[in-house]
Amino acid sequence: MEKVIIEVRINEYASRNRNAHVPFSPAEICEEALQCRRAGASIVHYHARDPKTGAPSAKAEVYADTARRIRDKSDLLIMPTLGAWTLPSPEARMSHIVEMAKDPATKPDFAPIDMGTSNVDVFDQRAHRFVSDDVVYMNTTNTLQYFARTIREAGVRPVAVLWNVSAIRLTTAFIEAGLFEPPIYSEIVLTEGGLFAGNPGTVRGLESMVDFIPPHVEWSVMCAGGNLFPLVGAAIERGGHIAIGLGDYPYAEFGTPRNSELVERVALMARQVGREVATPTDARRILGLA
Ligand code: ZN
Repeated sequence: MEKVIIEVRINEYASRNRNAHVPFSPAEICEEALQCRRAGASIVHYHARDPKTGAPSAKAEVYADTARRIRDKSDLLIMPTLGAWTLPSPEARMSHIVEMAKDPATKPDFAPIDMGTSNVDVFDQRAHRFVSDDVVYMNTTNTLQYFARTIREAGVRPVAVLWNVSAIRLTTAFIEAGLFEPPIYSEIVLTEGGLFAGNPGTVRGLESMVDFIPPHVEWSVMCAGGNLFPLVGAAIERGGHIAIGLGDYPYAEFGTPRNSELVERVALMARQVGREVATPTDARRILGLA
C-alpha cells in the first residue's frame, strides 16, 4: 500500500479558549509547521489570522509571509485556505492565492475547493437550539469552475474538498470536463460538534464516502468539530491519508497537545500497521506534483 500522507490543519479559525497552542501569527504558524514536519507531516494547511487577536485575516501579505517562512526552512507542501463564507465574493476568496503564486518563494502548492453548497448553521447540543439558522456556504457550479481555472492558471494544484457524495460526483465531472487533472488530492470532510453539513465522524460515515471515491483520486479524511483518532486506523487500513490538527478540534483527550503531537500519534499508528509515512517528496510523487 502507498505511504500515508499526513496533512496538518494547523489553525483554521479555532480559538485559544480550549487549547492555547493554536498558532495565529506567521512566525507561530511556521514554528508549528516545522515541528509537524519533524513529526511526519508533509502538507501544512493554514488560515491567515490577526497575530494578536486571532481574528480571520484576508491579507495577502500575511498569507505570503507565512508561506515564505515555511518554504525558507522546510520542504513542506503549502496549502493556504480560500476563505469561505466569511469573504464577500469568489474573487475575494481567490485573490491572495493569485498574489502568492506570482513569487516562487510564496507560491502555494495547493488550494482547496469546497465542492458544493452547504447549510453551515451549528446546533448547540447543550442548549438544544441552533446558534444561527440562515448561514449558507455558497459555492455555485459557476464559482467552482472559476476556482478550478484560476488555480490552474496560477500553477497551483486544486484539492477537492468533499462534504458529501454529491461533491465526489461533481469532482468526477470536473475531471471529465478537464477542469481537474488527475491524480487529484481530495479531503473527505466529516462533521461533528453540531455541524450537519457532512457525514458523522464515525467509521460508517467515512466508509459511505469512500465507497464513491473514483480512481485517480487520492483521499484523506478530516473531522471538523470532532476527534479523528477513532477513524485513523480505518482510514489507514483502507488506503487513505490523514488530515488532522488543532484547527478542527482541540483534542482535550490529550490535555492541551500541540499540532505536532497529533501528527506524531498518527505517524505511530500508521507504522504500527505497516504503512510508512510519506515525506513531502513522497507526497509530491503520489499527488502528481513531481
Ligand atoms: Zn481550512
